[in-house]
Amino acid sequence: MEQKINGRMLFVALLAMALTIIASFWVFHRAFDEQVRRDMSSYARLIAEAIDGKNPAELGDFAVDGLRITMIAPSGNVLFESEQHGIMDNHLTRPEIVEAVDYGAGESSRMSDTMGYKTYYYALRLDDGSVLRVAKQAQSMYSIYNRALPIMLGIGMLLLLVTVGVSTYLTRGLLRPIEKMAVNIEHIDRDVPYKELEPFVFAIKEQQLRKQEVERMRQEFTANVSHELKTPLTSISGYAEMIETGMAQADDIKDFAGKIRFEAGRLIRLIGDIIQLGRLDEKGGQRKFVQVDLRQVADSAFEYLGFAAEQAGVTLEARGPHLWVMGDRGMLEELVYNLCDNAIRYNRPGGKVVVETSAEDERAALAVIDTGIGIPTEHQTRIFERFYRVDKSRSKESGGTGLGLAIVKHIALHHGAEIKLDSAEGSGTVITVWFPSPV
Ligand code: ADP
Repeated sequence: MEQKINGRMLFVALLAMALTIIASFWVFHRAFDEQVRRDMSSYARLIAEAIDGKNPAELGDFAVDGLRITMIAPSGNVLFESEQHGIMDNHLTRPEIVEAVDYGAGESSRMSDTMGYKTYYYALRLDDGSVLRVAKQAQSMYSIYNRALPIMLGIGMLLLLVTVGVSTYLTRGLLRPIEKMAVNIEHIDRDVPYKELEPFVFAIKEQQLRKQEVERMRQEFTANVSHELKTPLTSISGYAEMIETGMAQADDIKDFAGKIRFEAGRLIRLIGDIIQLGRLDEKGGQRKFVQVDLRQVADSAFEYLGFAAEQAGVTLEARGPHLWVMGDRGMLEELVYNLCDNAIRYNRPGGKVVVETSAEDERAALAVIDTGIGIPTEHQTRIFERFYRVDKSRSKESGGTGLGLAIVKHIALHHGAEIKLDSAEGSGTVITVWFPSPV
């Protein structure tokens, strides 16, 4: 970047220099030309006045300082010529003389035989019809420029050096704050040196915060998982030890084995849920959706949960139309299973669980309604967090892993679905999942 800015500054400097040279050349050239022409006209008028009525031979007195004087009779004959080698042929064809004869005065300029010189002519018609012409050789602007060229090149080089120096200094000054930002990237948003960098800085800051948040959640999850794994393993190990050391009575052994199996079952479910969450995290972007009938998904969840419902004394009912949504069948089955599993586990004997499908406002909805214990308002916003439980012991006793609703939320997100929770402590819970649009 430094090189690029430097290069551009240099380019601008060079361009400015070139334009200045061209413009000054043009202005000087015009001023010089005009000055010489004005001088010539004054010379001619002064001389004409001075020799009025005198012998043309006296004109020689005025031919000083490189001024050449010619006097031409109306016939075109040269009456006087201050330079001996001057061309003596008929002068009436010269443009300045033609002009003078016709209009009273005329001028022209021609490149001289001598390199780099230009001759300026000015002709004036006198009262008697003869024409007085003055001529002077002047160095052309080109030759003046030729002479000035080395100096100009020298100044140009100097300017170039100064430009390089200044542009390097300025560029460094511009870039230093940006380099500083890179060094202090943790607090990149503290002193943003340029307003134009703000969107860029905010984007980086946002990314940093997101990364921190993900990292924090990952650490928290790992800590939670370790804790969740440790508890059942500790009790399994405890029961096994009692059997091993003979501390358990013969009657207890069966009971202990049952407890070991229960804890092992919870471990297996926990690991299954963790694996499932990991898969969902991975799948994030890719979608292989097919048409899935929500009503069919509800029916198959009930097939798996029939026994558990019976044990809990809860009746199951599926109602509503067949509704197709685009989705991943396995994931949707898991979603409905988890919701129904909770509706049974946090229910009361004699309670009821209804899964209802409905279409509304171009959207498909699946609601799991239970007549269970409900969720206190203050917990309602948090139950979808990993390992968050309202009543830890009830969750554990019923074999919960604390991950069911986190998985539900993840699957819903994956399908672009929205979850609505409606629950009243003591009277029941309704969790509705709204899918984008029925097919
Ligand atoms: P768990 O394995 O503990 O059931 P979940 O993530 O499925 O974990 O649910 C989180 C918590 O939300 C549960 O511990 C429970 O307190 C509460 N919960 C979930 N569903 C219901 C429900 N239908 N009725 C009452 N409480 C519920």
